[in-house]
Amino acid sequence: MSRVLVIGCGGVANVAIRKCCQQDEVFTELCIASRTKAKCDALAEALKGKTRTKITTAQVDADDVEQLKQLINDYKPDLVMNIALPYQDLTIMDACLACGVNYMDTANYEPEDTDDPEWRKIYEKRCREQGFSAYFDYSWQWAYREKFEKAGLTALLGCGFDPGVTQAYCAYAKKHEFDTIDTIDILDCNGGDHGYAFATNFNPEVNLREVSAPGSYMENGKWVEIPAMSIKREYNFEDVGQKDMYLLHHEEIESLAQTIPEVKRIRFFMTFGQSYLTHMKCLENVGMLSTTPVMFEGHEIVPIKFLKALLPDPASLGPRTHGKTNIGCIFTGKKDGKEKTYYIYNVCDHQECYKEVESQAISYTTGVPAMCGAMMLLTGKWNKPGVYTVEEFDPDPFLDALDRCGLPRRENHNPVLVD
Ligand code: NDP
Repeated sequence: MSRVLVIGCGGVANVAIRKCCQQDEVFTELCIASRTKAKCDALAEALKGKTRTKITTAQVDADDVEQLKQLINDYKPDLVMNIALPYQDLTIMDACLACGVNYMDTANYEPEDTDDPEWRKIYEKRCREQGFSAYFDYSWQWAYREKFEKAGLTALLGCGFDPGVTQAYCAYAKKHEFDTIDTIDILDCNGGDHGYAFATNFNPEVNLREVSAPGSYMENGKWVEIPAMSIKREYNFEDVGQKDMYLLHHEEIESLAQTIPEVKRIRFFMTFGQSYLTHMKCLENVGMLSTTPVMFEGHEIVPIKFLKALLPDPASLGPRTHGKTNIGCIFTGKKDGKEKTYYIYNVCDHQECYKEVESQAISYTTGVPAMCGAMMLLTGKWNKPGVYTVEEFDPDPFLDALDRCGLPRRENHNPVLVD
């Protein structure tokens, strides 16, 4: 028996909600609340007769703490799943604290307005002190640790695939495969083709901000920052084939460097096709990725938001995306005094996802872990007061749930390493 409030009804939330409804013995009541209520109503209608989960819908502006508090106090959920955008992480955490409810999300906080002088002051200090310049980082949400501890509430951060499952893979490797881990390479390969010259697989604004930023990795406890897309490797991914991949900054590097402190190097690579990179560079060069408002014919517009309006909605890519994703982690380290290597990963087929939940694999590989993380919290397997990332919990029940719910792990004890 549980009552869950899901905030957001985009590509990822659609999958998470459909998967919750498949587990209707755990998710008995669900309220879907988002900015555009019509999307929530359409999903509730599509699920009618297909689940025992009792679904209601609501309209909410998740930037507004008072509106959130009212919704939470009216619905009285056991858990709020934030599957809106990273911009809303802090307002939703504030509302959860005020109402005494557990919280989870799929991406760490970043501000919508990166020109805000108050935020910029803190950001620039962090850039200088820490040595990486991504707009998103965990410090904002880690600052809530004591408040959640004192309130006896759990906040689970970044429970998608990456971040999310990749951290559970790290916790699993540490628990079962290694005494000490020396290096971690996280490889995110999307071998899918949607037939468009250019489209993003999840929210375009968040996605383009992430991939156009400088890359960085952690080496011997220090960040090393590099120009965007300046480190390229090739890798032959099982069930996908040979792909070019590029080193990116990614949020789980920051938490893993703290939770597995012996690790000497952590890198994150993502595959991109040439067409994607050429389009992105061109859009960047002409200023279309800018978050700074410009005046156009008497109206203020934010270029990247305008671009989002022009690009295909990621939720619409499902029927036309073919191919597979392959996401996982390669480790080097020691067990019983001997050097060893290990690769744990998942392969997911875009069309299989579409058949099951009418979505492509990127939303699927994010929405399924969000549902499984919620299940861990609702069934008491991952409850401890405070603010935590996925690797701070026991990976076993979570990976077992993923195995059962559509994202089974694969393992290789002799993988090809990335140089
Ligand atoms: P979408 O843009 O498809 O959906 C976002 C949803 O949030 C929309 O329904 C939108 O409403 C709603 N929303 C936005 N602002 C507000 C607001 N102020 N109040 C209420 N609702 C709001 O994004 P995705 O589904 O692609 O991504 C969802 C999240 O998942 C993002 O945080 C993204 O970063 C994260 N993600 C994580 C991954 C991982 O592996 N960890 C991978 C991919 C994504 P409306 O319909 O009105 O626009």
